[in-house]
Amino acid sequence: MKTIGLIGGMSWESSLEYYRIINETIKQKLGGFHSAKCLLYSVDFAEVEEMQKLGKWQDAAQIMIAAAQNLERGGADFIILCTNTMHKLADEIQANIHIPFLHIADATAKMIKIAGLNTIGLLGTRFTMEHDFYKGRLIEKFGFKILIPNDADRERIHQIIYTELCLGVVKPESREEYKKVIAKLIREGAQGIILGCTEIELLVHEEDSAVPLYPTTRIHAQTAVAYALGEL
Ligand code: GLU
Repeated sequence: MKTIGLIGGMSWESSLEYYRIINETIKQKLGGFHSAKCLLYSVDFAEVEEMQKLGKWQDAAQIMIAAAQNLERGGADFIILCTNTMHKLADEIQANIHIPFLHIADATAKMIKIAGLNTIGLLGTRFTMEHDFYKGRLIEKFGFKILIPNDADRERIHQIIYTELCLGVVKPESREEYKKVIAKLIREGAQGIILGCTEIELLVHEEDSAVPLYPTTRIHAQTAVAYALGEL
């Protein structure tokens, strides 16, 4: 079994989910007392969030690179970054380590390809929904048509992530807001919805959508296990 290196803490609420899903998946596959070999480097999200807000992405890159290098030195065989947003820095991270980096959007896109879907709604932080590193990758590398919410809805989706979900607050009324945005995307043609922020699946579940959901934490964690066990 390979050792998984996780860069977490963004937020720790979702890193916990990664740890739980990775170990549950190993247990399902191997049984008995089996558990995952893994290292977690958990950053202080307050520092990173401030850099995001100020657009200081190169400062944030230094934190991500240092975390990845520490994991590599500690014995990780490959890296997963437990946040969609910080994949904006995926290329910089990969360029500064000698072990593979498993991209969260690629893992998710492969699941969608298997299902044969083409038009996909994307929910996440404003960075993920609006910047090109994520949407562009899904369009160019995988050929999907990507739908994002309108400006006002993007702002609400983003605010709920940072003012509630990343702080461990799960409100039924916010779930209703997400459900309405999902329904709008479906009316516009979405055949599936990417929960492209690692905390959204704490709030939104299969029953909240008329089309399949693609929860990135679960998919990424399960992909990491498959890779660790040599299945990929
Ligand atoms: N965990 C979130 C994501 O998947 C947002 C927190 C962050 O900005 O990293 O994008």
